[in-house]
Amino acid sequence: MRYADETSPDGTLPDRQHTSRRTFLRSTSVGVTSVALGASVAASAGSPPAQAADTQAAETEATQTQASVPVGRRGTRPLAVTPACSGQETPASIEGPLFKPHSPARNDLITPAIRGVQLDLSGVVYDTACKPLPETLIEFWQCDQNGDYDTSGFSLRGHQYTDSRGAYRLRTIIPRDYWGRWGQRAPHIHTQVQASGGPVLVTQLYFPDDTQAYGRDFAALNAADRLLNRACTIHLTGPENGRYTGTFDFVITTTV
Ligand code: FE
Repeated sequence: MRYADETSPDGTLPDRQHTSRRTFLRSTSVGVTSVALGASVAASAGSPPAQAADTQAAETEATQTQASVPVGRRGTRPLAVTPACSGQETPASIEGPLFKPHSPARNDLITPAIRGVQLDLSGVVYDTACKPLPETLIEFWQCDQNGDYDTSGFSLRGHQYTDSRGAYRLRTIIPRDYWGRWGQRAPHIHTQVQASGGPVLVTQLYFPDDTQAYGRDFAALNAADRLLNRACTIHLTGPENGRYTGTFDFVITTTV
């Protein structure tokens, strides 16, 4: 069953930066966000565990160390340090009609019924001064491998809070494209991001043109999607053992 998505009351794209402020009640079960990624679903036996924030930090540190190697020491030029944050606010998009409040606190959305192409997504939430934002709420919701949203339960829905370094991680699948209110939608993950007391960023994350999943032509799907914003494309590596690793950093405003 397919659900029309992305409707807006007046058929226009609302200014989400200022109109969608939402008060989130922090669940007392936030600690559950430390639910081990990879604890429940061993669908990819032998595949590496989800990339932990520690790993990400270690990689960043390694990159910086490498960047400090003098030119010519190894006969190669040193790598430039990858910019962690541009300060450019992540573009907003529409919420669509299928957001459900009160999602479970979790960062592993894969259940036995979910058999799509696995994705380990991680990143950092920054403010516009590129300061990492701990304790920032992130909601994720998406359709499954068939292009269906769960409107009766909370499959492929969850919220979490960034850790002390502003980092998040999510274990999920690459969603499939579907046909909705706005025509054929390229695969995307819906998100809401909100620092404590700040406005809500509502947006959608997309996948690179060369993504391989479900035999679909992501380049064609991306090109045809009226809502797609290339600035919201996940940086994807893989697949390795049938599983992709993705990164996406958010930059949000913290005051209304
Ligand atoms: Fe959608």
